[in-house]
Amino acid sequence: MMETVRVRFAPSPTGALHIGGAHTALFNWLWARRMGGSFVLRIEDTDRQRSTEAFEKTILAGMRWLGLDWDEGPDCGGGFGPYRQSERLDLYRRYAEELLEKDLAYRDGAAIIHRIPQDRTILFEDIVYGSIEIKSETIKDTVLIKSDGTPTYNFAVVVDDHTMAINYVIRGEDHIINTPKQILIYDALGWELPHFAHLPMILGEDKKKLSKRQGATSVYDYRDLGYIPEGIFNFLALLGWSAGDDKEIFDRHEATALFDLAKVAKRKAVFDMKKLDFVNQEHLKRLDPIRKLDLVRPFWEAIGLDSRLVDDGYLLRSLDLLEGRGQTLKEMAAYSDFFLSFDPVKERYDGSDISEAIKARLRPFFEALLAIGNWDHDAMAELARQWAIDKGLKLKDLAMPLRWALTGRKVSPGIFEVAVHLGPEEVRRRLAHYGLI
Ligand code: GLU
Repeated sequence: MMETVRVRFAPSPTGALHIGGAHTALFNWLWARRMGGSFVLRIEDTDRQRSTEAFEKTILAGMRWLGLDWDEGPDCGGGFGPYRQSERLDLYRRYAEELLEKDLAYRDGAAIIHRIPQDRTILFEDIVYGSIEIKSETIKDTVLIKSDGTPTYNFAVVVDDHTMAINYVIRGEDHIINTPKQILIYDALGWELPHFAHLPMILGEDKKKLSKRQGATSVYDYRDLGYIPEGIFNFLALLGWSAGDDKEIFDRHEATALFDLAKVAKRKAVFDMKKLDFVNQEHLKRLDPIRKLDLVRPFWEAIGLDSRLVDDGYLLRSLDLLEGRGQTLKEMAAYSDFFLSFDPVKERYDGSDISEAIKARLRPFFEALLAIGNWDHDAMAELARQWAIDKGLKLKDLAMPLRWALTGRKVSPGIFEVAVHLGPEEVRRRLAHYGLI
């Protein structure tokens, strides 16, 4: 019978959920879902100095935001809490004592230390990195329990992974170096080894390790920049894995159906912002309109626009008119600001290149536009076409000043669509304000 896959994500609550952590969590989640297995969340909080409850909360919230649900844990009223190492200290002590009894460990003061056997070749097959071989001589005796009674990472992780029946250990490549030490602990306790899969490190665009210096590193930083969970999920999945056939855009169900741990590449993955923007935009285009509206609202608010004062139907149509413009929610909010406000908030084009002479010449056109009986796109376009022919003007000579007055931009959705949507009163108000009627 095939074993049921059990994986875990084991963050230390010493910071927010950063991109590397989210990537590891995501690959574990995908493997569990792909194989119909279980995904366990374990908080490695034995470093009491650096661990905080607040960080634990943001990590959990970040995972929920990305939709990385875990399958078990202590009941926390209506859901599973995570396992916490700080609640399992007795267990680590018990196994350390077992090693003392077997004389495979010794005491140094209050600390318990693993005596590393000599002349041993540690060989393991990493699913991503292939065969890795290390001589035990190169490993120093390893602290299992520190003098304050807390376990070290290498010891706690083995005890937990074994007692939680984890059979696939999927984590960042920076832990390859710890794996031989952990394997020796499995051996000493007579436990079966899990499969190991180390994931390639994610590099910044400068090909250096992603770091805070490069700005946004936590998942929440990206949320606040206007990326959506679907986009981040898809983008992270592409770091080190490919869905094949040049398929770049997929949702969590498609990713789950296609994911294969054996296809993860060991080549370091570069965090390419342009790619992230592209992927995010594709998912924005696919969003349900009502959800999109709810997601854009806080970004309007951030630029001083209260969308609650405006009719939902009007807002939905406003976003519709963007026709896929905007790679983030933030950009969508900025590109649509003129629908909510008379005075566009950002990057205002001031129309200073439109001379008084041109304005005077165009006034009759704008008057005629406002006099149109049926306020629709085709009637406006036809009027403009005729006007341009009659006066020997180009269509853009009419459209540009109109765009300036209505949107405060040089680039906008189709300007007659915008005019229709704003309605005749608002168009009149804006044209009058800029001296165009
Ligand atoms: N707490 C460790 C970390 O945050 C977990 C490593 C592992 O998955 O074994 O890196």
